[in-house]
Amino acid sequence: MKDERYYAAYLEHNRISRRGLFRALIGGGQKAQAESAAELLKRAVARPPFAVVEPLFLKSCNGCGDCVSACPYGLILLKEGKASLEIDFSACDLCGKCAEVCSTGALALNVPPDTGLRPNIDLSCVRQYHQSCLFCETACKTSALSFNSTTRKMQLDNEKCNGCGECKTACLHNYINLAL
Ligand code: SF4
Ligand code: SF4
Repeated sequence: MKDERYYAAYLEHNRISRRGLFRALIGGGQKAQAESAAELLKRAVARPPFAVVEPLFLKSCNGCGDCVSACPYGLILLKEGKASLEIDFSACDLCGKCAEVCSTGALALNVPPDTGLRPNIDLSCVRQYHQSCLFCETACKTSALSFNSTTRKMQLDNEKCNGCGECKTACLHNYINLAL
């Protein structure tokens, strides 16, 4: 399962993103390997946005709690002795303070920030009923959310989304949930 490609990618973890690794493997025409790499990279819980790839994160994070104290919004908590992220009433602004204080390299500022969370928009979203509401769309700094006038639903550009949760906290109706 952990072949040469995996270890090459593993060593490069500070230079490439999770998506980059997945694309590289698919580009090589190695579908089965790409699938097993995707499996390895899967997170059981959301991590702070600058977390290195999951297998390395699990080895590196020693549960010291420095990132927990550093996050100005109190979004980080320790779960099973490892840093995890919970976005509920406040979004992550990708300030990087958690990565700045991380001494083990489990969080690193040169990792493209992505919490791994993605918004799920409830079918009750008022825009499909021709009501005007721009809260989530406007809150999204990466323009990952837009309204599809054909399906009459909000749609997400997964590549643009970094899982910050601004859309969730902006929705006055509480119609947005974040999930891995
Ligand atoms: S980037 Fe900033 S706001 Fe986001 S989890 Fe880290 S310390 Fe908290
Ligand atoms: S989680 Fe952040 S980046 Fe993703 S759609 Fe919501 S606001 Fe945009």
